Amino acid sequence: MKIKFWGVRGSIPVPGDATSKYGGNTSCVSVEVDDTILVFDAGTGIRDCGNYLMSQQKSIKGKLLISHTHWDHIQGFPFFVPAYIPGNEFSMYGPPSDVQNRSLKQIMELQTNYEYFPIRISQLGATLEYIDCREGKIDVNGFEVHTCRMNHPVACLAYKLIHNGKTFVYGGDHEPYRNVYRDSENSEGMEEEFLQELDEDANEQNKKILNFCQGADVVSWDSQYTEEEYLTKIGWGHSSMETNIKLAEEAGIKHMVFSHHEPMNDDVRLTELEAKFKKIAKEKGFALDFSKEGMEIEI
Ligand SMILES: [Zn+2]
Ligand SMILES: [Zn+2]
Repeated sequence: MKIKFWGVRGSIPVPGDATSKYGGNTSCVSVEVDDTILVFDAGTGIRDCGNYLMSQQKSIKGKLLISHTHWDHIQGFPFFVPAYIPGNEFSMYGPPSDVQNRSLKQIMELQTNYEYFPIRISQLGATLEYIDCREGKIDVNGFEVHTCRMNHPVACLAYKLIHNGKTFVYGGDHEPYRNVYRDSENSEGMEEEFLQELDEDANEQNKKILNFCQGADVVSWDSQYTEEEYLTKIGWGHSSMETNIKLAEEAGIKHMVFSHHEPMNDDVRLTELEAKFKKIAKEKGFALDFSKEGMEIEI
């Protein structure tokens, strides 16, 4: 399978000279397997991915797998030209909102309400079907894909694609689970025994994530912050690079890709951080890259 990164930025696009090395577009990764293209997330990077698909000059039957519906993961979809072309067919997979009781289709249609965008999704020329996904296993055009619920302020999934003995994991936005009452003023009056139970619950959830990534060939993972930055953003739903080094080591990941870069981090800062964490990964025996627009990995 050929993995290509089209958008690697978290939260908001940051175009400009200071970000041209890693790229300013938000999340989008494609995987070409045989004749099928699977596209993970539809951040602004999907626009270029769509232009590439258009240049192939054939009808496209694509699969779009959305980790969650925060803006930085869906905002490029209205600019995905292949969706406008009659004859093309797309299936979009992603989590519905259990809190608002909205399907993936309803959530996606909201972003092209006429107050926000001139063209409604229902007017697109391609055939588009929506599939609500929860945690488990799904069949994507005959490909084996597993999903795992991530820890984020909205329903969010990681996807694991297994093909010909190779495994690619696309993690959605994720913050490691923790006991939110530990060392918090809200824990006043709570028994230590109960707090320990909550610690264990968080550990179990983290173990589940680790098992999901176990032995994967390539893992693209939310690495928005350094540990120092994370400590001022606890609860925002993202991971630190230091924690992800530990995850890669413990899960035996062969090639870890840090992605969803913090928009405040320009090329100079990311280059420094990449050199630092590549060295750590090498010492621990696995490969590590920071994702860049246009980067390809073949497995
Ligand atoms: Zn995000
Ligand atoms: Zn998010």
